[in-house]
Amino acid sequence: MDAIAAAQVLSEIGYLLRQDPKEVYRARAFSSAAWALALERPDLEALHKANQLTAIEGVGAGIAKVLAGLVETGHSSYLERLRAEMGQPARDDESTIDLSAYQGDLHSHTDWSDGRATMLEMARAAKALGYRYLGVTDHSPRIKVVNGLDAERLLAQAREREQVEKEVEGLALLQGIEVDILEDGALDLPDAVLELLDVVIASPHVKLRQEASAMTERMLRAVSNPNVDIIGHPTGRRPGSREGASYDFEQVFRQAARHGVSLEIDCDPARMDLSPEHARLALELGCNFSVDADAHAPAEFAYVPMAAWMARRASIPMDRILNFKPLEALTMIAK
Ligand SMILES: [Zn+2]
Ligand SMILES: [Zn+2]
Repeated sequence: MDAIAAAQVLSEIGYLLRQDPKEVYRARAFSSAAWALALERPDLEALHKANQLTAIEGVGAGIAKVLAGLVETGHSSYLERLRAEMGQPARDDESTIDLSAYQGDLHSHTDWSDGRATMLEMARAAKALGYRYLGVTDHSPRIKVVNGLDAERLLAQAREREQVEKEVEGLALLQGIEVDILEDGALDLPDAVLELLDVVIASPHVKLRQEASAMTERMLRAVSNPNVDIIGHPTGRRPGSREGASYDFEQVFRQAARHGVSLEIDCDPARMDLSPEHARLALELGCNFSVDADAHAPAEFAYVPMAAWMARRASIPMDRILNFKPLEALTMIAK
């Protein structure tokens, strides 16, 4: 059992525990231990042999016991029990996700908006992971608290991107935006600006409690905008603390498939959105996916390897996931 496979088991345990409000702290402990494993990739066999699993950051006695079971048997009886309790038992149609084929993350933030690192730091981290490209998708102007970007600042950011690309050889920086889907489904930047960008992620951030039919109209309008490439964290949920938006998923996913708009699996443990259940529905309706970290700091790129089990559980084949495609095959990139 390698560290990434173990990270995914801990991540899924954290995810399932989050469904129970009483378990929120334990859920977080499992998620952060998963993150530590995905970041540091320790040799679990050796640590287990030396009785040192608790030396891993965030791993106490309880989590060490789960890890010991994983090293010894290759599976976790605790995870199996949780799955059964939640009515989500193992299925025989899970897909295989080969993370070594992951080409790049399409959703990330820098200190141009609410990220905690510069574009150069984010680019260097992506390059160190072997990524071929990175989508730089800061927030749009409406989100004032995070200093969202208007057309003028996007232009200034484009100049910085050129510089950073020169410094970090072999990594393509895709200039994008995470544009807010407004209450009526319009987007928070004019089409004339969006059409110049490589990647447009349209995300619902506010007014998620809209009545279902209004929310459906809002999402349908967003996926129908020809400049939109990806719907970011499509429900806006926060497992364990905030329910996501509720809308006619079937209708919206069908329309997304028709317009070639991909749906995101946002791997941030606070989001994990789409859920495997919704992703499975979207897959059946013909959608493609983008599996992103939504990283606000370099260490958060590790959210993807720790949460890749979500795509596997949803049975999504790798050829339906944008991040496994080479740069030349990303058709949404503005020419
Ligand atoms: Zn967002
Ligand atoms: Zn984001």
